[in-house]
Order: sequence, then C-alpha cells, then structure tokens
Amino acid sequence: MKPSSGEILRGELLLEHNTVHAMIVIYCAKHHKKTRQQHHSLCAECMALSEYAKVKLDRCVFGQNKPTCNTCPVHCYRPEPKEQMRQVMRFSGPRMLLKHPILAIRHLRHEKRAVPEVPKQNVSNRHLRKRSK
Ligand SMILES: [Zn+2]
Repeated sequence: MKPSSGEILRGELLLEHNTVHAMIVIYCAKHHKKTRQQHHSLCAECMALSEYAKVKLDRCVFGQNKPTCNTCPVHCYRPEPKEQMRQVMRFSGPRMLLKHPILAIRHLRHEKRAVPEVPKQNVSNRHLRKRSK
C-alpha cells in the first residue's frame, strides 16, 4: 500500500515522509509478520505510526526548511511514538542504503546541513495549505 501523504505534503516534506514510510515498511516486514494483514505493507500499529509522522511533518514549524528529525531542536513527538520511531530508525537506517539508495543519500546529505533557526512566522505545510485554499 502506498503512503497517502501525497494528498497533503509537498516537496521536501513529502520526500521526508516517503523516507520514513519506507523505513517503517522495512521494520514491519521483519518484526510484525504475524499481525500484518495480507496485501498490506504495514500492520495497524505501523500504519498509525506512519500517519502520525505525516501529521507531524505537516505541522513542522520549519516547513520546507525542516532539518532531519535526528538533528531537530524541537521535540514534537509524544514519548510513545518517539520510542517506536527510534526503534524503526535504528533497525531500518542501515538497511535504507540498499533498499532505497536515493532517499537514503538525500537524507544523509540533509543531515550534514546546519540546523536552521525556528522561523518566526508560521511556515508549516499545514498553515500554507490552509491559507492557499
Ligand atoms: Zn508493523
């Protein structure tokens, strides 16, 4: 199943969600074989985590200028999904270069950039999306 993030996310944020979704797929395939329904790439729990990541990306205060989550000074995740995501990243991070080299290299290059200041104006994808309607 494809992530539904293309409906709301744009640009860098969409690529970021594609990356995180791919990492969750890798993790779920290895750890949740039993709970995953046939023909679905994710179990219900992992689907919820991917959706949660999508909402957070949509509302990220940096908007298109978002630093990688790993280097971000803003802690926007609740403790439980944060811990889930930490496990996913630890497992899938090293496997991404083989499975999705283009997304992985983009992410690694992004990680080396300086972390921007938190913008004073609201530039979140959600804000701009609502305003453009
Ligand atoms: Zn799963």
